[in-house]
Parts: sequence; C-alpha cells; structure tokens
Amino acid sequence: MKQNRRDFFKTTGLLAGSALVSGYTNNLLTEKIIGNKMSGKIKFRYKPYTLELKHVFTVATNSRTTTPVVLTEIEYEGIIGYGEASMPPYLGESHQTVLDFLSKVDFAKYENIFDLETILADIDSIAPGNPAAKASVDIALHDLIGKLMNQPWYNIWGLNKDKTPYTSFTIGIDKPDVVRQKVKEADEYKILKVKLGRDNDREMIETIRSVTDKPITADANQGWTDRQYALDMINWLNEKNVLFVEQPMPKIQVEDLKWLTQHSPLPTIGDESVQRLSDVVKAREIFSGINIKLMKSTGMREAYKMITLARALGMKVMLGCMTETSCAISAAAQLSPLVDWADLDGALLISNDVYEGTKIIDGKVTLSPLPGIGAKKI
Ligand SMILES: [Mg+2]
Repeated sequence: MKQNRRDFFKTTGLLAGSALVSGYTNNLLTEKIIGNKMSGKIKFRYKPYTLELKHVFTVATNSRTTTPVVLTEIEYEGIIGYGEASMPPYLGESHQTVLDFLSKVDFAKYENIFDLETILADIDSIAPGNPAAKASVDIALHDLIGKLMNQPWYNIWGLNKDKTPYTSFTIGIDKPDVVRQKVKEADEYKILKVKLGRDNDREMIETIRSVTDKPITADANQGWTDRQYALDMINWLNEKNVLFVEQPMPKIQVEDLKWLTQHSPLPTIGDESVQRLSDVVKAREIFSGINIKLMKSTGMREAYKMITLARALGMKVMLGCMTETSCAISAAAQLSPLVDWADLDGALLISNDVYEGTKIIDGKVTLSPLPGIGAKKI
C-alpha cells in the first residue's frame, strides 16, 4: 500500500484544508515527510489546539478555563496514528515547548516502526523532561501500530475489555448551591472526585453528602502542609465513605507523607510525587499506591511498565488524566482493565473535543472496538 507522490500531495492538501475547520483556526499545521530506512514513508504532523473547559476548573493551587494541547499524527503507508500532548500550565510544558521538542524528532533514523523500545528510548533521550511532548509521539505510534496489526491495544496486551473500572467524575470547588447542582448533573457517575486542600474542605464534602451517598475520592493536590491536620482530615473523610486520598501533602515533605501513610486509615495515592517508572520504587515507601497519567509517564509504554512494577511491589494503581481530548483518554483507557481506580473524565470536561473513542457509559469506562487506541476524528 505504498503511496505514490501524487497521492501524497493529495493527502497533504486534504489535511491542510482540514486545518481550517473551526477550532483549528489560527493553528499552524506542521508536517514533516521523511524518506527513511523503512520500506514505507513516514509523515509526522502536529498542530497546537486549545481545549475549552465547560466550567472554570479550580484546584488547590489555581483556576483556569482553557488547556493547551498539541495534536499529533504519524502516517505510515497510508495508515494514520493519532496522538496528543496536554499541557496544564502549572506543569511547565506549553504549545511552544512541545512544538520545539517535536521539531527534533527524526523518524528517518529508525529502521522498524514496530521497534517501540528503541524508538521511544531514543525520543526520550532528545531532552530531559517534556513528558507530554513525548507522550504525544508514544500515543500516535501505539495507535499506528495497533492499526497496522488491526487490533486495539487491550487485545494486544491481552486484557479483558469488560474489566474496565468505573471512572470518577470531578466536582469542581464552588459555592454550596452550585456544588449541589453539579452533583445532581453527575447522576450517571458512580464515583465522585473532589479537589480538597483549601479552607472549605469539610464544607465541600458535607455539601455533596447532603445530596448523595456515592463513594468519593479526594485529591488534596499537595494542599495540606501539617501532617497532624492531614491525618485529622483523613480520619474525618474515612467516616464519609471516601475511598482514598490523592497527594495529601507537598511532594517535598517526604517524611511527613511516609508518617501519614503509616497512620492513615485510607489508602494514600501519590500523584505529583510520581511521574515516571523510576519514581515507583521510591513511592512504595511513601504511599499506598500511585496515580499514573500518560502525560507524566511519557505515554502508554512506560505507563504499562509502571503498572507492572507497582503491582509487583504490592501497590494500588490509579489511572488518571489531564484535561484531554478523547484521543489521549482512549489511549489511557486501553490500560484501564489493569487498575484499581480510574479518573478518566478529562474529555467530559471540554466542549470542543475533536475525537471520539472510549466512552463513559453509566459511569463505566467503555472501550471502543476500533484498532490502535480506538479513537477516530469526529
Ligand atoms: Mg491528582
């Protein structure tokens, strides 16, 4: 299925046209065509895009209404793999840093598109950091390879698609009457997530409990700095049908976090403290479990390794996300049969998704039967 030169220009023209469709306006499409050592040609495209949030999103440290992302495509022999980088501003990556990183990715070096281990290790070595930029390549490569094999990744990994978890749905911090309304609107979701770490933590939980008894997961986002206060809060939350507490204290307070986990009646889950595979062993001493996100782990391949290692160490595993389109959410969802808890509501919080794939049906992560990551353009 090699493309001839004429087909290639036709494809490019179509894609350049699609870049003008609403939402892509003003975003520059970058395309690199690489004649390489492989039998086919690889085309690598990427463009910045801005996700619009349905509601102002407030956590312990900030509020925002948009999230920058970069959408990637890797095309090989006419098959296109989709990927995405999502860059919440507080994590340090941006449209510019991702575009700069992706401009340094050179597929001409690689001999075998299936050799993810070599390709992704090499891309990782381009520069330290840049986890979302790296994830945008990893996800697109996984999507492409799954499509070349004509299988979704849950099949390639040998996972049961019916064993996906329910996802939590985040109720943003707000005034009590707004919170009550949001809880009622979230009727479909079986588990609610609450961002804590501010001065109205008890009020938020009590407000939700005035409407529903559903299990709640709590995320303090490093917001509690006194360990005894954190323990008192967790003891109180334990009486309120809360399942676990994510990142109760700042990641630099390692000894306090260890002490808290030893005394906590609820599992503690490391999020900001745990980014990549190399962090998992350290986390075992600090938390009961870890929150894995593709935008921290550099993508699906390392996330899979992190789950395997965490399980071997006897740790709980949660699968989370940033604000993302259904592209990155579908990629993460491929791993979800392996985890205890999922927090994959990122695409539900935006009003301008450009993909559809994994859906949340009656609160449960429901995988698409499509090959690769299971996402297609809307
Ligand atoms: Mg978190």
